[in-house]
Amino acid sequence: MAKELIVIGGGAAGIFCAVNAARMSPGLRVTVLEKTGKLLSKVKVSGGGRCNVTHACFDISAMAGRYPRGQHFVRKAFHQWFTTDTINWFQERGVELKTEEDGRMFPVTDSSQSIIDCLMRELNRFGVEVRMHAEVKGVEKEGEGFAVTLADGRVLAADHVCVACGGYPKSGMFEWIRALGHSIEEPVPSLFTFNMPGDPIVGLMGVSAPAAQVKVVGTKLVEKGPVLITHWGLSGPAVLRLSAWGARELAAREYQFSIVVNWLPEFSEQEVRDRLQELRYEWAPKMVGSGPPFGLPRRLWDHWLGISGVHKDIRWADLPIREQNRLAGLLCAATFTVKGKTTFKEEFVTAGGVRLSEVDAGSYGSRKVAGLYFAGEILDVDGITGGFNFQHAWTSGWIVADSIRALVSTT
Ligand SMILES: Cc1cc2nc3c(=O)[nH]c(=O)nc-3n(C[C@H](O)[C@H](O)[C@H](O)COP(=O)(O)OP(=O)(O)OC[C@H]3O[C@@H](n4cnc5c(N)ncnc54)[C@H](O)[C@@H]3O)c2cc1C
Repeated sequence: MAKELIVIGGGAAGIFCAVNAARMSPGLRVTVLEKTGKLLSKVKVSGGGRCNVTHACFDISAMAGRYPRGQHFVRKAFHQWFTTDTINWFQERGVELKTEEDGRMFPVTDSSQSIIDCLMRELNRFGVEVRMHAEVKGVEKEGEGFAVTLADGRVLAADHVCVACGGYPKSGMFEWIRALGHSIEEPVPSLFTFNMPGDPIVGLMGVSAPAAQVKVVGTKLVEKGPVLITHWGLSGPAVLRLSAWGARELAAREYQFSIVVNWLPEFSEQEVRDRLQELRYEWAPKMVGSGPPFGLPRRLWDHWLGISGVHKDIRWADLPIREQNRLAGLLCAATFTVKGKTTFKEEFVTAGGVRLSEVDAGSYGSRKVAGLYFAGEILDVDGITGGFNFQHAWTSGWIVADSIRALVSTT
């Protein structure tokens, strides 16, 4: 009799697993169970509707270093399925990817629909059965196989099960996975922006500093890169990366902490002081507000002049030394109080999930239950922003398909 694989979840990891399993093991019956009425809904909205499929990083260690949780695990997995494999897989099926300056890769069409159409074609081509509105409530080992119970009470039989149901934001949602004997690392949000209610800097919303350094006081968390000022506080790649690396530590502080921003991290404070001193002579007759030094955005410069007590209309030659030094201090180390976070809707992920020590990185198979596999964000793996989370979805989905192929071909 044909063996049956049930994939729980019709997201990137589940669908990639299903299409590859059906292709690699022609005798295998593959069914995807999806609780909503839509497949690949995150792929559709991701990257602002363009889908940031992967990252143009071709070094396994460097790539693994972009995962705050699961680094060692993905390093092993990438030896089996890496960024290059993802790029080739889509290219062989008519979807060309292009690379943006920051390394993010998108379909050349700039439309996530190209990825969805490609995966849907493969689902049809290899006869994968898809059941919508099929929410799994429980999975039990039954003999050599599994009994999968749906919310409407139906029970389906399977020889292999791949759990690819994405990141659950609440601990209670993992109950049916705990019931299989697996431990769960508590879920916390990753990739969020910092709220700084009442801080006058939010008046500069829309201003971006291309290369600032942000440190969380009292921790080792520090990141350098673009920082964007928003209506609520600070965002941008440097802040998002900090939120990912600090997901647990910042959750433990209930998102109440202080940060220090260095707007000019390429200079020491002494160099900034010296340069301001030079400008008193070089730009002596000019108004301090007439143009910012150091290539700073004008509104940011005006803001720090105001906070330092310097009037925009005084001449550089007349800049009082006390205010000049205060300005240098603020440009190099401005302290802000963070009170709360805002989820980064562009690429939100959950840190936490199925404990990695209970899963084999070579097969993505459970170490507790034979025939059970995990793929995607349900695992305690998450990457920073830039295509890393989808790459893990493709890698894990493919490895599960290949592990099942190896089993099916020997039975
Ligand atoms: C708005 C947004 C934009 C993003 N943009 C990017 C990006 O550009 N690049 C990037 O790398 N990452 C991005 N991410 C993260 C990325 O989308 C996820 O990491 C990735 O989708 C995880 O894939 P997955 O298949 O594991 O889970 P999901 O895509 O979440 O899919 C899981 C599926 O399982 C279903 N399901 C859950 N429980 C059950 C159940 N009990 N029974 C049946 N079905 C169930 C869900 O309905 C869902 O369809 C983005 C995330 C969001 C929210």
